[in-house]
Amino acid sequence: MECIFCKIAKKEIPSTLVYEDEKIVMFKDLNPIAPIHLLAVPKNHISSANEITTENSKIIAHIFEVIAKENKNLGLEDGYRIINNCGKLGGQTVEHIHFHIVGGKELSWAKL
Ligand code: 5GP
Ligand code: ZN
Repeated sequence: MECIFCKIAKKEIPSTLVYEDEKIVMFKDLNPIAPIHLLAVPKNHISSANEITTENSKIIAHIFEVIAKENKNLGLEDGYRIINNCGKLGGQTVEHIHFHIVGGKELSWAKL
């Protein structure tokens, strides 16, 4: 069975899309932890940050470029945090690489 974020990227299951281009989608997280909580997801399946290679790493730069370019449109002009959870100890629950973009309030630094 194909993974949930592949299905969201293909519109096979619904999401609230806030940005899309030929390489990535950005949509609202189902369980937001802040007033703004988006997920930036490559359309190509990459399981986690551990699977980034010389061949596929351009997509990561692209995601950060889009966030920088679109930050005002996304309501993030006053600042935000980008988070990637990787693997079991990192708290990754969906095995398709994604970046959480959280903002819309002053964020305290993570207590681990
Ligand atoms: P992780 O824990 O892997 O870093 O983050 C997975 C995130 O995906 C969680 O914040 C969770 O709320 C979100 N999520 C899981 N399933 C869905 C879904 O079907 N739709 C949306 N919009 N978000 C989802
Ligand atoms: Zn996938």
